[in-house]
Amino acid sequence: MSSDLQRKASPGLRTRKEGLFPDPGLWERFFRGDRLACARLITALESYPRLVPVIRDRLFPNLKGAVRIGITGPPGVGKSTVTAALARRMIAAGHAVGVLAVDPTSPFSGGAFLGDRVRMHALGEDPRLFIRSQASRNGHGGLSPATPYAADVLDAFGMDRILIETVGVGQAELDVLTCADLILLVIQPGTGDVIQTLKAGILEIADIILVNKADLPGADLLLDSLRFLFEINLRKTAKPLPAVLTGSALQDKGMDEVQAEVERRIRDLAESGELHEKKRQRLERDIQSALRDELWEKFSGLTNAADEIRAVAGRVLEKRESPYPYLRRTCARVRIEFAKERAKRDDHKKKALGRRAPKVRTEGR
Ligand code: GDP
Repeated sequence: MSSDLQRKASPGLRTRKEGLFPDPGLWERFFRGDRLACARLITALESYPRLVPVIRDRLFPNLKGAVRIGITGPPGVGKSTVTAALARRMIAAGHAVGVLAVDPTSPFSGGAFLGDRVRMHALGEDPRLFIRSQASRNGHGGLSPATPYAADVLDAFGMDRILIETVGVGQAELDVLTCADLILLVIQPGTGDVIQTLKAGILEIADIILVNKADLPGADLLLDSLRFLFEINLRKTAKPLPAVLTGSALQDKGMDEVQAEVERRIRDLAESGELHEKKRQRLERDIQSALRDELWEKFSGLTNAADEIRAVAGRVLEKRESPYPYLRRTCARVRIEFAKERAKRDDHKKKALGRRAPKVRTEGR
């Protein structure tokens, strides 16, 4: 393999220290539709937190408003198979589809999981499909911290449907909500009381529930328990009840209906303005958290807040002190810093006005 090829095959991105990023031609290649450039941008977002603002600065003006569909559910229920079935149909319907699959461990391990991924990669050369596996190790389990950023990359790359497949069922699946416009929950019959194993809240956030593996016994029973659950629980919420569908992704049965329901929901969300509102709320949270990070970074850079907090935590534990006096003192310090800043700005303004004012007066006399 030539060193150039080796470089291209490398999943990592050379660091700025090595002087190879920002790669001057990267954006130009990305906007030309170069898949390698797209992959490298995602890698950069995953690997170099300091590059996140630089890259996102360029992405924001190029976002086209792709619809993000979260596909979630317990391991082994067929999420990858369903994702592949949906991706194929969306492509056939003329969409460009990005798939973000958050792997439990590393992108290149896991038996059946990999099997399905490989099957999807067989579709992978289609320019209207871009598949990316993301390790979840640094995230909350179900979603890599860079998943929303990767979704933005795929959006700017021109994919108008982004399927985000997560692992397992837990708090992390609820986090999918923060990054998805629409949620498809996949469950399967015959694994004990599956509904009991679902984290509370997951049924409520699902827009569509697919009882997959309907070729196995027990699908009817599961449907009955779902109906019962909706009767007693979800009726109370204002949100429309999720659509419940059955199918067999392995046999490719019922998947047309799933796709039709997904598209119907997207249309409803778009027409009611909810899609726009969801995206706005997501941005609001995003800006808030970026501001929190930035303020913390600035503040901890100016003070030795991290050390102070460690000391306060020690005193709280040992001497049963309350941490609130420290918080109050710290907020007062921040207020003083802000006031100093404002005074400095006012002073500058006054000086600038002062320089101009006498001139005007002299000319007037
Ligand atoms: P994931 O872990 O939720 O992504 O599940 P996978 O898509 O990897 O599927 C797990 C296993 O279930 C694989 O062996 C699939 O072939 C199988 N599978 C997926 N869909 C069906 C189905 O509809 N019926 C049956 N019987 N097996 C299925």
